[in-house]
Amino acid sequence: MTRGGPKRLALLSFHSSPIGRLGSQDTGGMSVYLRQLAGELGQAGYAVDIFTRRWEQSQGQSVSLSPSVRVVFVDAGPLERVDKGQLHHHLFEFVRAMVTFGRTQKVKYDLIYSHYWLSGWAGSMLAAVWDVPHFTMFHTVGASKQATGVGETEPSLRLEKERELVHSCHRLIVATTQEQSQLVEYYDAPSQAIRIVPLGVDLHLFRPVDRRQARRCLGMSLDDKVILYVGRIDAIKGIERLVEAVLQLPERRHVKLMVIGGDETSHGPIERLQDMARKENADHMFDFRGLVDHDQLPLYYSAANVCAVVSYYESFGLVALEALACGTPVIASDVGILNQIIKEPVLGTVLPVTHDPRLLAYHLHDRLLQSPPHPELVRQGVCERGWDHTARHFQNVLAEYGL
Ligand code: UDP
Repeated sequence: MTRGGPKRLALLSFHSSPIGRLGSQDTGGMSVYLRQLAGELGQAGYAVDIFTRRWEQSQGQSVSLSPSVRVVFVDAGPLERVDKGQLHHHLFEFVRAMVTFGRTQKVKYDLIYSHYWLSGWAGSMLAAVWDVPHFTMFHTVGASKQATGVGETEPSLRLEKERELVHSCHRLIVATTQEQSQLVEYYDAPSQAIRIVPLGVDLHLFRPVDRRQARRCLGMSLDDKVILYVGRIDAIKGIERLVEAVLQLPERRHVKLMVIGGDETSHGPIERLQDMARKENADHMFDFRGLVDHDQLPLYYSAANVCAVVSYYESFGLVALEALACGTPVIASDVGILNQIIKEPVLGTVLPVTHDPRLLAYHLHDRLLQSPPHPELVRQGVCERGWDHTARHFQNVLAEYGL
């Protein structure tokens, strides 16, 4: 343990840069979590380094996010994007480079907190070298995602490593009781090692903007009824059934589905969704906007009549919290934390995770006909869920290790 000075935490985010563009293929809720939690811990007096793989020449050695929080780029593998499925080939390099970094910079860490199974694997090697406790958070439980039957098949290596990690890590951090049960059910995780640390929402950034004003800023018609989707373009997010549901709406006039998110890898899936719309002569109902900067999103959430989070799997569901914080109700699948947060009917509707597009269409129609609830009433539902709340929970777990 470091003597005097702040406690030093090494957060590992091997496959995804915490400062990458949100809503692209490998960058989403986990990056938001890392930035926000690290920021709060920095303010609470910890020194936090987030280690990630360098994939672009222009990335220097590190970037400071605040006086006590840095993102450190580590050389491991080629200077280009590498498919997540191939990244494990560069994991040993990553670990070796981190050991060298610690030695040459004369930095000793008091704890490793790894994110996603690849970093978990790296973390367990490093924990053995540095002889420090290792906490991990999977963000997605591979076996549970696999059980949905949607999206790519998870590699057996992932399932094997996740199973090893639940037995070797000092603490397994999960965001919900649902995730806690998944770890026990699929990997026989020891319950005494699991701690629930809910995610949060940036209540300063995400706040209601007058809907008419938001629409004017975004050049949107005041007459439209807008359904908003925000997230990576990934089959697991249920975007296809959302498009099907919109195409089945009994009243389509003035209805728009605005889709935010997706990068250069999303052209194929987006074209397929556009084809679905074209076949129904309904292109005009869809507006694919691509990535939007995080700090612009409050305008989009506030401009929408309803936000749809109809995923087959979410470990938490940040987008729903952000929408609610902006005063916009949410129609969601029963995933992550959403059935605990969305109090029907004011805050929205929660549908069974396997719901049919027809049921979704019914609820969207119903919601679009209703006069919207007062934004402040909706925001109330998440007003206790700032990131400071998350950090306090996490610090309680650190305290178990004297940190
Ligand atoms: N996001 C963004 N811009 C976009 C698309 C998404 O800032 O164009 C953010 C969104 O606000 C949210 C995160 O990406 O904070 C996605 O998190 P979520 O937990 O919903 O999904 P995940 O990516 O973890 O599956």
